[in-house]
Amino acid sequence: MSQQAVYAALGVRGYEHRSIRLGEGSVIVRLQVKDQDVCCPGCGSDDVVRRGCQIREFRAPPIAHRCVLLLIDVPRVACEACGTVRQVALTGMAEGHRCTRSFVRYVIELRKVMTIRDLALHLGVSEWLVRTIEKEYLQQHFAKPRLKETTKIAIDELSIGGGHRYLTIVLDLTSGAILHVGEGKGADALSPFWRRLKASRARIDAVAMDMSAAYIFAVTKHLPDATIVFDKFHVVKLMNDKLSDLRRELFREATDGLDKQVLKGTRWLLMKNPDHLDDERNEPDRLQEALALNQPLATAYYLKEDLRQLWSQKTKATARKFLNRWIRRAESSGIRILQRFAKTLQTHRRGLLAWYDFRISTGPLEGVNNKIRTLPRTAYGYRDQTYFRLKLHALHTTHYALIG
Ligand SMILES: [Zn+2]
Repeated sequence: MSQQAVYAALGVRGYEHRSIRLGEGSVIVRLQVKDQDVCCPGCGSDDVVRRGCQIREFRAPPIAHRCVLLLIDVPRVACEACGTVRQVALTGMAEGHRCTRSFVRYVIELRKVMTIRDLALHLGVSEWLVRTIEKEYLQQHFAKPRLKETTKIAIDELSIGGGHRYLTIVLDLTSGAILHVGEGKGADALSPFWRRLKASRARIDAVAMDMSAAYIFAVTKHLPDATIVFDKFHVVKLMNDKLSDLRRELFREATDGLDKQVLKGTRWLLMKNPDHLDDERNEPDRLQEALALNQPLATAYYLKEDLRQLWSQKTKATARKFLNRWIRRAESSGIRILQRFAKTLQTHRRGLLAWYDFRISTGPLEGVNNKIRTLPRTAYGYRDQTYFRLKLHALHTTHYALIG
């Protein structure tokens, strides 16, 4: 392989080769700036007088296990045209770091599959340098997520650090990019997002979210033309919670020891999708036994199961009829918890049926949550908020979210 080919592979071009030698665990390459390239770094004039030379050291990507050190003779020149005396500019070097741009690219690439610590060890540099290089890259590419083309978003809160801290996340449902990370939950956490969204002049058609009053208020205020779509998973989960509340209530009221015993073990069976009930563990029978013993529980259970059909109707019109029927059934059940829930659905019917106009949900945010949850707890960004946020904004570009 010619010298040029080696330099091309290292991403170092435009220098004159002087020598290569092996050091301890390293390859030391001596280079100098080509005579014809010596010019004033300020004005570009080649009418310059040399004023000495300084050897500077730069990192290039490693060759196998050896790190590559470039020692470059950098001339100082006095410019006849503009009168300054400076070192000439070097091509291919990363600004602010003593390494090549190819080294920076190498760090960014490997960072996708290696932790900071492993990468620093592999390269023989400090963790600080790896982190700084990555942070600069993220800052450059992800600090300001583009909002202009966004049309559909999902909003949800996410608990991290064992439920001690909440983040409000806004996701672009088309690109999958996190557009906003707000501290805390509720409307306040969204305020900075609305400002940026307004400035971007994006036209948002639809927003997927849960039925929380705070979000409804905020979205209605800031995006009056957008269609609110209540997320089906949240609605089903809420119904599950109601069923669970009812079971608990019935358990408290049960006077018969047998009733109590049957009710006791049914919580998870009630929540489970009936298709997933385990035959070998007698789950279908146990569930039937509990339902047979308890009429209110059975009513609530079948209403819960039916509710999921709201999202698999043929048309919006049939879905509307279905919802009306469901609400009537719940209202006439005589069960207070169900009646209250029916009222909630009645109040939110528009956003429930809007799913037939925009089939969106906060489901994709669940994937984001899972990625974040796989992070070590120390990585939740208590130490470096900016870095954590940038990582979140870049999350859709990576398979894993390596922060540590
Ligand atoms: Zn000059």
